[in-house]
Amino acid sequence: MTNVDGAVIVSKNLRHSYGVGELRTQILHGLDFAVNAGEVTLLVGPSGSGKSTLLTLIGALRSVEEGSLKVLGQELSGSSESDRVQIRRRIGFIFQSHNLVASLTVLQNVQLLLQLNEPDPKARVEKACNLLEAVGLSHRLYHYPDELSGGQRQRVAIARALAPEPELILADEPTASLDSQSGQDVVELLGDLCRRRRSAVLLVTHDLRLLKDADRIWRIEDGRVNPWQPDIAATAP
Ligand code: ADP
Repeated sequence: MTNVDGAVIVSKNLRHSYGVGELRTQILHGLDFAVNAGEVTLLVGPSGSGKSTLLTLIGALRSVEEGSLKVLGQELSGSSESDRVQIRRRIGFIFQSHNLVASLTVLQNVQLLLQLNEPDPKARVEKACNLLEAVGLSHRLYHYPDELSGGQRQRVAIARALAPEPELILADEPTASLDSQSGQDVVELLGDLCRRRRSAVLLVTHDLRLLKDADRIWRIEDGRVNPWQPDIAATAP
């Protein structure tokens, strides 16, 4: 079922707990799953089921304590902080808080991460403009984040995450602040780009309208993860 050769994320018996001593609570109880290059994978599950915890483990933002988690070929269990920094540089993050720089324009925000891998300033501007056009924001290039709606800010965050052409994109509820049509447009855009570049998108969502745009769906519940079939998903409550 899972093509491990093309896998960008492979987790084996991954466990995670919070707290110490009597307060220690296990959240993830041994997850086995994979995410493949060139696919949009959704991670769904009830609130509190551990989706964000898992996303931060995959994003090398939190240490892996038990089990194995390989991301972009790097084992994160037992990895050093400098290994994790290297992995983070290869990942595009789209989190709910946007984290746009308030003092920079939309165009400057999208160019920010390009400075590391695109030395030519003209090429940087062109690339950023193309991405902003793709997310429907060509008319907002010189606006500042606080002049935009929540949905527009989210689209800037998406363009910025895509700009350095990361091999893996991690998105936490990226459509939460978008209306239905914009949400679907954004996921279609992510899907188009990831299939063309053979990168992978892992998207945490509650938005059941996105199920049809996914290549694969994993559902996490009671600390375990299982594949979820879209036809079953479509009829599930
Ligand atoms: P989801 O993203 O599916 O809503 P989370 O990963 O945010 O789930 O949380 C899973 C569980 O872990 C919840 O019960 C939450 O209260 C708990 N939790 C999350 N972060 C922490 C933390 N830093 N310390 C202790 N418990 C936490």
